Amino acid sequence: MRLRNKPWARDFMAEHPDVLLAEPKKMNNGWRDLFGNDHQIHVEVGTGMGQFIIGMAIANPDINYIGIEHFDNVIVSALEKAIEADKPSNLRLFRANGVELAEIFSKGEIDRVYLNFSDPWPKTRHAKRRLTHETFLKLYESVLIPAGEIHFKTDNRGLFEYSLVSMSDYGMKLRYVSLDLHAEMPEDNIMTEYEEKFSAKGQPIYRLESQFSN
Ligand code: SAM
Repeated sequence: MRLRNKPWARDFMAEHPDVLLAEPKKMNNGWRDLFGNDHQIHVEVGTGMGQFIIGMAIANPDINYIGIEHFDNVIVSALEKAIEADKPSNLRLFRANGVELAEIFSKGEIDRVYLNFSDPWPKTRHAKRRLTHETFLKLYESVLIPAGEIHFKTDNRGLFEYSLVSMSDYGMKLRYVSLDLHAEMPEDNIMTEYEEKFSAKGQPIYRLESQFSN
């Protein structure tokens, strides 16, 4: 993703603490209190410009959604979209690296992890950075409910193949696999920005749902 310098981003983000949290590590097991209900919490790691997580929040008001993005210059675009969408009350965003998940959520605090068009890191020496690497699976498991789920979409065949093996080696159950999501196009599919871009070029979209075994 190309990053434009946005010197105004920090101030703008600070003006909307009702959507964009400045200090997620201080939540201290308080996510359900923050949302004010016991609904499920679904988290997208690498949310980019937010189209997916905001679309999901609008489509499913009885689920709470959290979008996590590494870069200020990117999450600020998600914040702008959330404001345009009148700030759905079941949506929160914050800037963080996925490696920090266990400092932000307690065990069992979230119900599902979404990974959409994660950076593929094709070089073997960068495999540990892939969001479906064993170290990330361990992290997700440490914050998910027992038998929590990962839902993953990508245009990148190499990353998809790698992820199938990584999840299988980890002992996860595959609940759904599609090698061409758009051939089926489930009614409830919410497209991400990257999904729109790649599917417009005729590239197949791969999708899986997997579940931890405990
Ligand atoms: N999910 C969006 C979509 O499908 O349109 C964005 C996809 S983009 C290729 C990947 C995004 O994930 C980038 O915005 C990147 O900054 C973010 N990202 C990559 N690694 C991350 C990490 N470890 N923690 C948080 N965000 C990450």
